Amino acid sequence: MASNENPLGPSPKAVEAMKQALPEVNLYPDGNAYYLKKVLAIHLRVGEGNIILGNGSDEIIRVIVETFLNEGEEAIMGEPAFLIYRLAVKIMKGQSRLVPLKDFTHDLEAMARAINERTKLIFIANPNNPTGTMVTVEEVDSFMKEVPEDVIVIFDEAYYEYIERDDFPRTIDYLKENRNVITLRTFSKIYGLAGLRIGYGVAGEELIRGMNRVRQPFNTNSLAQVAALAALGDQGHVKKSREANRDGKTFLYEELDKLKISYVPSEANFILVGVNEDGKVISHKLMQEGIIVRPMGMYNLPDFIRVTVGTEEQNKKFIKALCKIKNFKNRQD
Ligand SMILES: *Cc1c(COP(=O)(O)O)cnc(C)c1O
Repeated sequence: MASNENPLGPSPKAVEAMKQALPEVNLYPDGNAYYLKKVLAIHLRVGEGNIILGNGSDEIIRVIVETFLNEGEEAIMGEPAFLIYRLAVKIMKGQSRLVPLKDFTHDLEAMARAINERTKLIFIANPNNPTGTMVTVEEVDSFMKEVPEDVIVIFDEAYYEYIERDDFPRTIDYLKENRNVITLRTFSKIYGLAGLRIGYGVAGEELIRGMNRVRQPFNTNSLAQVAALAALGDQGHVKKSREANRDGKTFLYEELDKLKISYVPSEANFILVGVNEDGKVISHKLMQEGIIVRPMGMYNLPDFIRVTVGTEEQNKKFIKALCKIKNFKNRQD
Protein backbone atom coordinates (compact mmCIF):
# COMPACT_ATOMS: atom_id res chain seq x y z
CA MET A 1 0.00 0.00 0.00
CA ALA A 2 2.91 2.31 -0.74
CA SER A 3 2.87 3.28 -4.40
CA ASN A 4 -0.73 4.12 -5.28
CA GLU A 5 -1.11 1.16 -7.62
CA ASN A 6 -4.53 -0.25 -8.49
CA PRO A 7 -5.10 -3.17 -6.08
CA LEU A 8 -7.52 -4.79 -8.57
CA GLY A 9 -4.71 -5.16 -11.09
CA PRO A 10 -4.84 -4.38 -14.80
CA SER A 11 -7.84 -4.93 -17.05
CA PRO A 12 -7.90 -8.58 -18.22
CA LYS A 13 -8.29 -7.12 -21.71
CA ALA A 14 -4.92 -5.40 -21.37
CA VAL A 15 -3.31 -8.67 -20.29
CA GLU A 16 -4.85 -10.48 -23.26
CA ALA A 17 -3.70 -7.79 -25.70
CA MET A 18 -0.14 -8.16 -24.44
CA LYS A 19 -0.27 -11.94 -24.86
CA GLN A 20 -1.35 -11.43 -28.46
CA ALA A 21 1.49 -8.99 -29.05
CA LEU A 22 4.24 -11.07 -27.44
CA PRO A 23 5.41 -12.96 -30.56
CA GLU A 24 6.17 -9.65 -32.25
CA VAL A 25 8.48 -8.12 -29.73
CA ASN A 26 11.34 -8.63 -32.16
CA LEU A 27 9.98 -5.54 -33.91
CA TYR A 28 10.66 -2.02 -32.72
CA PRO A 29 7.61 -0.28 -31.28
CA ASP A 30 5.75 2.32 -33.30
CA GLY A 31 7.63 5.43 -32.27
CA ASN A 32 4.61 7.53 -33.07
CA ALA A 33 2.15 5.17 -31.31
CA TYR A 34 -0.30 5.63 -34.18
CA TYR A 35 -3.16 3.44 -32.90
CA LEU A 36 -2.96 4.46 -29.26
CA LYS A 37 -2.83 8.15 -30.12
CA LYS A 38 -5.77 7.80 -32.46
CA VAL A 39 -7.96 6.25 -29.77
CA LEU A 40 -6.70 8.59 -27.06
CA ALA A 41 -7.49 11.58 -29.27
CA ILE A 42 -11.09 10.40 -29.65
CA HIS A 43 -11.32 9.61 -25.94
CA LEU A 44 -10.06 13.08 -24.98
CA ARG A 45 -11.63 14.98 -27.88
CA VAL A 46 -8.35 16.51 -29.00
CA GLY A 47 -6.22 16.14 -32.10
CA GLU A 48 -3.58 13.43 -32.39
CA GLY A 49 -1.06 16.26 -32.66
CA ASN A 50 -2.04 17.37 -29.17
CA ILE A 51 -0.73 14.18 -27.54
CA ILE A 52 2.71 13.06 -26.44
CA LEU A 53 3.30 9.62 -24.97
CA GLY A 54 5.92 8.93 -22.36
CA ASN A 55 7.63 6.13 -20.50
CA GLY A 56 5.34 6.95 -17.61
CA SER A 57 4.32 10.55 -17.05
CA ASP A 58 7.55 10.77 -15.07
CA GLU A 59 9.40 10.75 -18.37
CA ILE A 60 7.20 13.50 -19.77
CA ILE A 61 8.01 15.65 -16.73
CA ARG A 62 11.69 15.19 -17.57
CA VAL A 63 11.07 15.95 -21.23
CA ILE A 64 9.12 19.10 -20.37
CA VAL A 65 11.93 20.43 -18.25
CA GLU A 66 14.61 19.44 -20.78
CA THR A 67 12.66 21.08 -23.59
CA PHE A 68 11.58 24.34 -22.01
CA LEU A 69 13.69 25.22 -18.97
CA ASN A 70 17.01 26.94 -19.57
CA GLU A 71 19.77 27.13 -17.00
CA GLY A 72 18.91 29.59 -14.24
CA GLU A 73 15.23 29.79 -15.10
CA GLU A 74 12.61 28.98 -12.51
CA ALA A 75 9.88 26.43 -12.01
CA ILE A 76 7.22 27.06 -9.39
CA MET A 77 5.75 24.12 -7.49
CA GLY A 78 3.93 23.34 -4.27
CA GLU A 79 5.67 22.13 -1.13
CA PRO A 80 5.10 19.34 -0.46
CA ALA A 81 4.22 18.11 -3.92
CA PHE A 82 5.43 15.35 -6.23
CA LEU A 83 9.22 15.16 -5.84
CA ILE A 84 10.02 14.37 -9.47
CA TYR A 85 9.45 18.01 -10.52
CA ARG A 86 12.24 19.23 -8.32
CA LEU A 87 14.66 16.52 -9.42
CA ALA A 88 14.03 17.25 -13.10
CA VAL A 89 14.59 20.97 -12.57
CA LYS A 90 17.80 20.35 -10.67
CA ILE A 91 19.20 18.13 -13.43
CA MET A 92 18.66 20.96 -15.92
CA LYS A 93 20.32 23.47 -13.57
CA GLY A 94 17.09 25.37 -13.10
CA GLN A 95 15.71 26.82 -9.88
CA SER A 96 12.71 25.37 -8.06
CA ARG A 97 10.58 27.92 -6.27
CA LEU A 98 8.66 26.06 -3.59
CA VAL A 99 5.35 27.51 -2.47
CA PRO A 100 3.99 26.02 0.78
CA LEU A 101 0.59 24.37 0.61
CA LYS A 102 -2.29 25.88 2.57
CA ASP A 103 -4.40 23.34 4.48
CA PHE A 104 -2.55 20.59 2.58
CA THR A 105 -3.79 22.11 -0.70
CA HIS A 106 -1.99 24.00 -3.47
CA ASP A 107 -2.19 27.70 -2.65
CA LEU A 108 -2.75 29.02 -6.15
CA GLU A 109 -2.89 32.66 -5.05
CA ALA A 110 0.54 32.37 -3.45
CA MET A 111 1.81 30.47 -6.50
CA ALA A 112 0.62 33.30 -8.76
CA ARG A 113 2.41 35.82 -6.53
CA ALA A 114 5.62 33.78 -6.85
CA ILE A 115 5.79 34.36 -10.62
CA ASN A 116 8.65 36.59 -11.72
CA GLU A 117 10.51 37.35 -14.96
CA ARG A 118 12.56 34.14 -14.66
CA THR A 119 9.51 31.88 -14.24
CA LYS A 120 9.19 29.40 -17.10
CA LEU A 121 7.20 26.47 -15.68
CA ILE A 122 4.55 25.97 -13.01
CA PHE A 123 3.77 22.44 -11.80
CA ILE A 124 0.42 21.70 -10.20
CA ALA A 125 -0.28 18.12 -9.18
CA ASN A 126 -4.06 17.87 -9.10
CA PRO A 127 -4.96 16.00 -7.00
CA ASN A 128 -1.70 16.52 -5.20
CA ASN A 129 0.57 13.68 -4.21
CA PRO A 130 1.15 13.11 -1.24
CA THR A 131 -1.80 15.07 0.19
CA GLY A 132 -4.64 13.88 -2.07
CA THR A 133 -6.23 17.34 -2.15
CA MET A 134 -7.44 19.10 -5.29
CA VAL A 135 -7.81 22.64 -6.57
CA THR A 136 -11.18 23.51 -8.11
CA VAL A 137 -12.19 24.83 -11.51
CA GLU A 138 -12.88 28.23 -9.97
CA GLU A 139 -9.46 28.44 -8.33
CA VAL A 140 -7.70 27.34 -11.50
CA ASP A 141 -9.62 29.81 -13.66
CA SER A 142 -8.66 32.76 -11.47
CA PHE A 143 -5.10 31.49 -11.27
CA MET A 144 -4.78 31.25 -15.04
CA LYS A 145 -5.81 34.89 -15.33
CA GLU A 146 -2.69 35.81 -13.34
CA VAL A 147 -0.29 33.63 -15.33
CA PRO A 148 1.56 35.38 -18.18
CA GLU A 149 0.97 33.85 -21.64
CA ASP A 150 4.57 32.68 -22.03
CA VAL A 151 4.68 30.68 -18.80
CA ILE A 152 3.86 26.97 -19.18
CA VAL A 153 1.50 25.52 -16.59
CA ILE A 154 1.64 21.76 -16.10
CA PHE A 155 -1.40 20.12 -14.54
CA ASP A 156 -0.33 16.67 -13.41
CA GLU A 157 -3.56 14.69 -13.26
CA ALA A 158 -2.22 11.22 -12.52
CA TYR A 159 -5.32 10.44 -10.42
CA TYR A 160 -7.83 12.07 -12.76
CA GLU A 161 -10.00 8.98 -13.23
CA TYR A 162 -10.56 8.69 -9.48
CA ILE A 163 -12.14 12.15 -9.25
CA GLU A 164 -15.81 12.16 -8.40
CA ARG A 165 -16.34 15.86 -7.70
CA ASP A 166 -17.88 17.99 -10.40
CA ASP A 167 -15.84 21.10 -9.57
CA PHE A 168 -12.63 19.52 -10.91
CA PRO A 169 -11.09 21.74 -13.63
CA ARG A 170 -11.15 20.66 -17.28
CA THR A 171 -7.61 21.71 -18.00
CA ILE A 172 -7.56 20.22 -21.51
CA ASP A 173 -10.06 22.96 -22.46
CA TYR A 174 -7.25 25.54 -22.17
CA LEU A 175 -6.13 24.18 -25.54
CA LYS A 176 -9.01 26.04 -27.15
CA GLU A 177 -7.76 29.29 -25.65
CA ASN A 178 -4.25 28.64 -26.95
CA ARG A 179 -2.85 28.78 -23.44
CA ASN A 180 0.51 27.24 -22.63
CA VAL A 181 -0.93 24.40 -20.60
CA ILE A 182 0.20 20.77 -20.49
CA THR A 183 -2.10 18.19 -18.91
CA LEU A 184 -0.43 14.97 -17.77
CA ARG A 185 -2.25 11.70 -17.28
CA THR A 186 -1.04 8.15 -16.82
CA PHE A 187 -1.91 4.49 -17.23
CA SER A 188 -0.04 3.71 -14.00
CA LYS A 189 -2.76 4.48 -11.52
CA ILE A 190 -6.42 3.58 -12.13
CA TYR A 191 -5.55 1.67 -15.33
CA GLY A 192 -3.26 -0.58 -13.31
CA LEU A 193 -0.32 -0.61 -15.73
CA ALA A 194 2.43 0.95 -13.57
CA GLY A 195 4.93 -1.74 -14.45
CA LEU A 196 4.64 -1.05 -18.16
CA ARG A 197 5.57 2.63 -17.86
CA ILE A 198 3.19 4.56 -20.05
CA GLY A 199 1.61 7.98 -19.61
CA TYR A 200 0.69 10.92 -21.78
CA GLY A 201 0.64 14.66 -22.03
CA VAL A 202 -1.94 16.85 -23.78
CA ALA A 203 -0.99 20.31 -25.04
CA GLY A 204 -0.96 22.65 -28.01
CA GLU A 205 0.70 21.26 -31.14
CA GLU A 206 3.67 23.58 -30.90
CA LEU A 207 4.53 22.45 -27.38
CA ILE A 208 4.05 18.81 -28.39
CA ARG A 209 6.35 19.23 -31.41
CA GLY A 210 9.05 20.70 -29.19
CA MET A 211 8.82 17.84 -26.71
CA ASN A 212 8.76 15.22 -29.47
CA ARG A 213 12.14 16.51 -30.61
CA VAL A 214 13.58 15.90 -27.16
CA ARG A 215 12.06 12.54 -26.23
CA GLN A 216 13.68 9.34 -27.36
CA PRO A 217 12.15 7.92 -30.56
CA PHE A 218 11.11 4.59 -28.99
CA ASN A 219 10.29 5.82 -25.49
CA THR A 220 7.13 3.72 -25.09
CA ASN A 221 7.39 0.00 -25.72
CA SER A 222 5.08 -2.08 -27.87
CA LEU A 223 3.52 -4.07 -25.02
CA ALA A 224 2.72 -0.90 -23.13
CA GLN A 225 1.11 0.58 -26.24
CA VAL A 226 -1.21 -2.38 -26.87
CA ALA A 227 -2.04 -2.76 -23.18
CA ALA A 228 -2.89 0.94 -22.84
CA LEU A 229 -5.10 0.75 -25.91
CA ALA A 230 -6.98 -2.25 -24.53
CA ALA A 231 -7.21 -0.69 -21.06
CA LEU A 232 -8.77 2.45 -22.54
CA GLY A 233 -11.38 0.24 -24.14
CA ASP A 234 -12.30 -1.32 -20.80
CA GLN A 235 -13.98 1.57 -19.01
CA GLY A 236 -15.92 -1.00 -17.01
CA HIS A 237 -12.70 -1.89 -15.22
CA VAL A 238 -12.02 1.79 -14.60
CA LYS A 239 -15.48 2.28 -13.13
CA LYS A 240 -15.14 -0.81 -10.95
CA SER A 241 -11.75 0.41 -9.73
CA ARG A 242 -13.12 3.87 -8.94
CA GLU A 243 -16.02 2.41 -6.98
CA ALA A 244 -13.81 0.00 -5.07
CA ASN A 245 -11.56 2.93 -4.21
CA ARG A 246 -14.50 4.98 -2.97
CA ASP A 247 -15.69 2.11 -0.77
CA GLY A 248 -12.16 1.55 0.52
CA LYS A 249 -11.75 5.21 1.39
CA THR A 250 -15.09 5.26 3.20
CA PHE A 251 -14.04 2.23 5.24
CA LEU A 252 -10.62 3.67 6.08
CA TYR A 253 -12.07 7.07 7.04
CA GLU A 254 -14.58 5.42 9.37
CA GLU A 255 -11.98 3.27 11.03
CA LEU A 256 -9.48 6.12 11.39
CA ASP A 257 -12.27 8.31 12.84
CA LYS A 258 -13.06 5.63 15.41
CA LEU A 259 -9.40 5.47 16.35
CA LYS A 260 -9.22 9.27 16.46
CA ILE A 261 -6.34 9.20 14.01
CA SER A 262 -6.27 12.28 11.80
CA TYR A 263 -6.00 12.19 8.03
CA VAL A 264 -6.41 14.44 5.03
CA PRO A 265 -9.57 13.61 3.04
CA SER A 266 -8.41 12.51 -0.39
CA GLU A 267 -9.72 12.82 -3.96
CA ALA A 268 -7.27 10.12 -5.07
CA ASN A 269 -6.49 6.49 -4.19
CA PHE A 270 -4.30 7.17 -1.19
CA ILE A 271 -4.66 8.85 2.18
CA LEU A 272 -2.18 10.99 4.07
CA VAL A 273 -2.48 9.81 7.67
CA GLY A 274 -1.17 11.73 10.68
CA VAL A 275 0.36 9.23 13.08
CA ASN A 276 1.49 11.71 15.76
CA GLU A 277 4.90 10.13 15.98
CA ASP A 278 7.75 9.31 13.63
CA GLY A 279 6.13 8.00 10.45
CA LYS A 280 9.28 6.05 9.68
CA VAL A 281 8.99 4.08 12.90
CA ILE A 282 5.30 3.39 12.27
CA SER A 283 6.07 2.33 8.70
CA HIS A 284 8.74 -0.03 9.94
CA LYS A 285 6.37 -1.59 12.45
CA LEU A 286 3.68 -1.92 9.80
CA MET A 287 6.22 -3.65 7.60
CA GLN A 288 6.74 -6.22 10.34
CA GLU A 289 2.99 -6.82 10.21
CA GLY A 290 3.22 -7.41 6.46
CA ILE A 291 2.08 -4.00 5.26
CA ILE A 292 4.16 -1.55 3.29
CA VAL A 293 3.18 2.13 3.45
CA ARG A 294 5.15 5.25 2.57
CA PRO A 295 6.70 7.31 5.37
CA MET A 296 6.57 11.01 4.53
CA GLY A 297 9.88 12.33 5.85
CA MET A 298 11.03 12.93 2.27
CA TYR A 299 8.10 15.29 1.87
CA ASN A 300 8.83 17.17 5.09
CA LEU A 301 5.92 15.51 6.82
CA PRO A 302 7.78 13.37 9.38
CA ASP A 303 4.66 12.59 11.44
CA PHE A 304 2.70 11.24 8.49
CA ILE A 305 2.42 8.12 6.41
CA ARG A 306 0.78 7.79 3.00
CA VAL A 307 -1.43 4.74 2.58
CA THR A 308 -2.75 3.53 -0.76
CA VAL A 309 -6.35 2.38 -0.63
CA GLY A 310 -6.15 -1.38 -1.06
CA THR A 311 -8.58 -4.23 -1.43
CA GLU A 312 -11.11 -4.73 1.34
CA GLU A 313 -8.86 -7.36 2.84
CA GLN A 314 -5.76 -5.17 2.67
CA ASN A 315 -7.57 -2.21 4.21
CA LYS A 316 -8.76 -4.34 7.12
CA LYS A 317 -5.30 -5.76 7.61
CA PHE A 318 -3.84 -2.27 7.64
CA ILE A 319 -6.30 -1.02 10.28
CA LYS A 320 -5.75 -4.11 12.38
CA ALA A 321 -1.98 -3.67 12.24
CA LEU A 322 -2.24 0.03 13.01
CA CYS A 323 -4.38 -0.75 16.06
CA LYS A 324 -1.84 -3.27 17.26
CA ILE A 325 1.06 -0.88 16.82
CA LYS A 326 -0.75 2.02 18.43
CA ASN A 327 -1.98 -0.27 21.22
CA PHE A 328 -5.59 0.50 20.44
CA LYS A 329 -8.27 -2.04 21.12
CA ASN A 330 -8.84 -3.70 17.78
CA ARG A 331 -12.48 -3.21 16.98
CA GLN A 332 -12.47 -5.84 14.33
CA ASP A 333 -11.85 -8.74 16.68
C1 LIG B 1 2.31 8.39 -9.76
C2 LIG B 1 2.43 9.79 -10.20
C3 LIG B 1 2.98 10.12 -11.44
C4 LIG B 1 3.83 9.16 -12.22
O1 LIG B 1 3.21 8.29 -12.94
P1 LIG B 1 3.98 7.42 -14.03
O2 LIG B 1 3.09 7.61 -15.20
O3 LIG B 1 3.98 6.06 -13.47
O4 LIG B 1 5.34 7.95 -14.27
C5 LIG B 1 3.02 11.44 -11.83
N1 LIG B 1 2.53 12.39 -11.05
C6 LIG B 1 2.00 12.13 -9.86
C7 LIG B 1 1.50 13.24 -9.03
C8 LIG B 1 1.94 10.83 -9.39
O5 LIG B 1 1.47 10.57 -8.18
